[in-house]
Amino acid sequence: MDLMKEKKFGYGCMRLPLLNKEDQTSFDYDLINKLFDTYLEKGFTYFDTAYTYHGYHGEEAVRKALIERHPRDSFQLATKLPLRDFKDNEDMKRIFDEQLTNCGVDFFDYYLLHNMGSNVYQKCCKYDAFDFVVKKKTEGKIKVVGMSFHDTPELLEEILSEHGNGLDFIQLQINYIDWEQPNVQSRRCLEIANKYNKPVIVMEPCKGGTLVNIPKEAEKLMKDYNPTVSTASWALRFAASQKGVFRVLSGMNSMEQVEDNTSFMADFIPLNEEENAIIRNVAKIINLNTAVQCTACEYCTHECPKNIAIPKYFALYNSIMRTTGSFSSQMVYYNNIAINHGKASECIGCKQCERACPQHLPITTYLKDVVEKFEKNSIIPTRK
Ligand code: SF4
Ligand code: SF4
Repeated sequence: MDLMKEKKFGYGCMRLPLLNKEDQTSFDYDLINKLFDTYLEKGFTYFDTAYTYHGYHGEEAVRKALIERHPRDSFQLATKLPLRDFKDNEDMKRIFDEQLTNCGVDFFDYYLLHNMGSNVYQKCCKYDAFDFVVKKKTEGKIKVVGMSFHDTPELLEEILSEHGNGLDFIQLQINYIDWEQPNVQSRRCLEIANKYNKPVIVMEPCKGGTLVNIPKEAEKLMKDYNPTVSTASWALRFAASQKGVFRVLSGMNSMEQVEDNTSFMADFIPLNEEENAIIRNVAKIINLNTAVQCTACEYCTHECPKNIAIPKYFALYNSIMRTTGSFSSQMVYYNNIAINHGKASECIGCKQCERACPQHLPITTYLKDVVEKFEKNSIIPTRK
């Protein structure tokens, strides 16, 4: 299958509409059914879910709204092996079989190793997770194998050089704010995927909705150029325009969003040079609305006795301070970074970092804000 010829636009099912925002399983099926039906009517077919979404009930919701209501050959289903959850080889098999039941299918069109990063990589090597998915593909239980990735380009390169043969594609977080952010490094991760000829699916092109509600000054730049298109369209087209990207996911939870997104993704046109220049200016404005004016120079980290990833944590903190909705993806990054670095709470207040910072930032004070956001509000999902 030539993935680059696939339709460019997929339906992300991580944040489906709910009747009660406090209850992740209170699915608004009337609305979800209508959204899925309209997306299919527009000629798109790809649905992306995962074992862990919606408190481990996301696959069940997709079964009810999609799989039980539409012929199996009218859509493509993607789900993911939860790398944080499985205990050993037997457990991988148990989870995979449970997923087939959850979804009510006998094969997955796309299946991904979910949220690969330094915290789970060694476990995946120890229990042959890479071989496991390839074996399932050989058995006909999976058509296309991939991996969603939230870590450094260096780790991505290591994984692709050692285990890349079995992977048909990579799923990366790519958007115009994270393009050069030190904590995500979208551009460099994409370059590694391109280097290994792995087609890419983009997740979080609107950064969890952050790039839908942008500062007025930034929005004006977009509206002056084209008053008829949405801010979301700029973000999705930016992601879809990048080399090697064959699909962009959008987690739509209103009919307005489905109508809007499908309109410009139906006959997708890459951004032109003028539009790219506007995006760069918009990114600058968004970054000016930034809580911590850290330039990520890393001068502060060289002598930190606790090896605290100061600029990476500040980038994540800035990201959530701009975000009005869920910050689960930033929380995932925080936990991944903290595997190999000191947490913000481990700071001993020696202030070596502040003496080194060319921006004269009160780093130790900001680290306390980081602790408040990331260590006292953990929202990593747990099984119900
Ligand atoms: S004050 Fe905290 S963050 Fe700064 S160098 Fe010392 S331990 Fe590291
Ligand atoms: S030295 Fe200051 S500006 Fe540079 S990375 Fe550290 S906190 Fe950011």
